[in-house]
Amino acid sequence: MNHDTPSAMPLPTQVRNLVIVLGDQLDAQSSALQDFDVTQDVVWMAEVAEESTHVWSAKQRIVVFLSAMRHFAQDLRAQGLPIVYTQSDDADNQGTLALQLKRAITLLQPVALVLTAPGDWRVLQALRAVAAEHKLPLDLRDDTHFFTTVREFAAHAKGRKQLRLEYWYRALRQKNGILMDGKAPVGGQWNFDADNRESFGKAGPQNVPPPTRFAPDAITQEVIALVNTRFATHPGTLHTFGWPVTRAQALLALNAFIDQRLPLFGQYEDAMWSGEAWLYHSHLSCALNLKLLNPREVVQAAVDAYRAGTAPLAAVEGFIRQILGWREYVRGIYWTQMPGYLERNALDAQAELPAWYWTGETDMACLKDAIHQTLEHGYAHHIQRLMVTGLYALLLGVKPKAVHAWYLSVYVDAVEWVELPNTLGMGQFGDGGLMASKPYVASGKYIQRMSNHCKGCRYDPALSTGATACPYTTLYWDFLMRHETLLKKNPRMAMQLKNLGRLDAAARLAISNQAAAHRLASSAQGKTLP
Ligand SMILES: Cc1cc2nc3c(=O)[nH]c(=O)nc-3n(C[C@H](O)[C@H](O)[C@H](O)COP(=O)(O)OP(=O)(O)OC[C@H]3O[C@@H](n4cnc5c(N)ncnc54)[C@H](O)[C@@H]3O)c2cc1C
Ligand code: SF4
Repeated sequence: MNHDTPSAMPLPTQVRNLVIVLGDQLDAQSSALQDFDVTQDVVWMAEVAEESTHVWSAKQRIVVFLSAMRHFAQDLRAQGLPIVYTQSDDADNQGTLALQLKRAITLLQPVALVLTAPGDWRVLQALRAVAAEHKLPLDLRDDTHFFTTVREFAAHAKGRKQLRLEYWYRALRQKNGILMDGKAPVGGQWNFDADNRESFGKAGPQNVPPPTRFAPDAITQEVIALVNTRFATHPGTLHTFGWPVTRAQALLALNAFIDQRLPLFGQYEDAMWSGEAWLYHSHLSCALNLKLLNPREVVQAAVDAYRAGTAPLAAVEGFIRQILGWREYVRGIYWTQMPGYLERNALDAQAELPAWYWTGETDMACLKDAIHQTLEHGYAHHIQRLMVTGLYALLLGVKPKAVHAWYLSVYVDAVEWVELPNTLGMGQFGDGGLMASKPYVASGKYIQRMSNHCKGCRYDPALSTGATACPYTTLYWDFLMRHETLLKKNPRMAMQLKNLGRLDAAARLAISNQAAAHRLASSAQGKTLP
C-alpha cells in the first residue's frame, strides 16, 4: 500500500471509518465523504488487476480509470485527507478489491467501512462479503450523484405491466422543474424527436467542431506506459488518448460541448459518417460515469443555453432526455433486476461473438468503421452502438452475455449499471421487452439512410440474397422469420411482420440459406480471441 507522498497526511492511530472510494466514484462531494473527519477517518483506494481483466478491458478504458483515480487521490491528498492508495504496480498488490481491502482492514483495524453504493452488483457483493467476514459494519450510502434513488424507481415501476422511459422521464421533469412552464412542458410538448434525427445528406457533415481532447500529463503518461506493458495484449491503442481525467478538464469539455455542439446535437443525434467519430455528441459519458461531472450541472448548463437563446429547444430537450431520462432509467432497471438480469436471454440466442469484433477485420463497411473507431478511441455514439454493432449481433443471434462482455470491455464509459441494460435490454432484447417495447431491428437500408457507409461497401443494402446482398438485410428477414411466432404477439412489430408476409416460400428459403451461410462465414473470420 502506498502512503508515501510528501503531502500525505499521517494516518490516525485509531481509525474510525475506512472510506472506500471506487474507480467510478471520483466525486469530492460523494455521500461517503460527506462527514469525513481527517483526524479519525482514512480514504481507501486501490487499482486492482481484476477490474481490468474480469472482462478483457480495452487499453483506453483502463487508462481512463487509473489516471482519473490517481488524479483524484492527488487532489484528496492536497486537501489534507489521509489516504491509502494501492497502485497496479505495487509489489504487494493482491489483485482484487476484496483481497486488497482485507489487507487494509488487518493493517488499519477500522471501526467501520463506509461506501457510496457502487455501480456494479458484483463489486457490492464482494465488499459486503469482506465486511461480513471481518464482522465490520458497512455503512452503505445512497449515491447522491443521481437525480433519483433506486427506491424511487422501484416505487415507480411497482404494479406497471410495462416500464417505459417516457413516463419516468416526464415524472422527473416535473419533480425537478426542468424545462417546465408550471405544470406544462416548455414549448408545449415533452418530446421533439420529430424535429431531430436527420441524416447529413449527400454533402456530409460540415465544419464539425474539433473534439475537446487533453494531452496526457505526467500522471497519464505514466499510466499509459504501465498499461502498454502490463496489459499489452488488451484491445485497442493509446496513441490517441485524450479523455478528461480531472474535474477541471471535464468542466472544460462540458462548456465546449454546450457552446459548440449542443445546437446541432438533436438534429444529427442519429446520423453517422465514415471516419467521423465525434460529430455533435457530447462525449461526456465517461466523465459523468466516473462522477467527475454531476448530471445536475450538465442538465442545468443545457437549460441555461436554451434560456440564453444559444441552443434550440429540440436539441436541449433531446440532450436532457438522455441524461435525466435514459441514464436514470437504466440505472433503475439494473438495480431492480440484478442479479437475474445478467442471465436473461429471451430470444434464446446461442451464437458466439465473431472474433473480428475485437479487431474490426470485416468487409462490412459500417461495422469496420464503428469497430475501428471504438478500438482507437474507446468511443462510439449511441446509434453506432445500437444500430451497427448491436444490431448485427442481435440479428446474428449472439449470446447476450457475450455481447455484454464486449461492450463492457471496449468503451471508456462502460460501467455495468449503465452498460448492461443498454446492451442486454435495449440492444439485444434479452429481457424480452422490459427495457424496450420491441426489438430494435432494421435492414441495411436503415444504415444507408443514416450514413454514407453503404456507398463504400461491397454489399448492397437493398439485396437480401445473392453475392452482394447486405448481411444486415439478409439477417433482418431471417430474424423476423426465426422469431415470427413470438413477434406476432407484439403490436409494435405489426408493420414489419406485414412486410415479411409479402415474401413467398421460395424467397424465405433463399434468405434462410443465405443467412445460414453468412453465419458460418462470419464465425470463421478473424483470429480467435477471448
Ligand atoms: C449497446 C449499448 C451499450 C451502451 N453502453 C454504455 C455504457 O457502457 N456507458 C454509458 O454511459 N452509456 C452506454 N450506452 C448509452 C449511450 O450510447 C452512451 O451513453 C453515449 O453514446 C455516450 O456518448 P456521449 O457522451 O457522446 O453521449 P451523448 O449522445 O452526447 O448523450 C449525452 C449523455 O446522455 C447519456 N446517455 C445517452 N444515452 C444513454 C443511454 N441509452 N443510457 C444511459 N445514458 C445515456 C450519457 O451520459 C451521455 O453522455 C450504450 C448504448 C448502447 C446501445
Ligand atoms: S451495405 Fe450493409 S454491410 Fe455494407 S455498409 Fe451498408 S449496411 Fe453495412
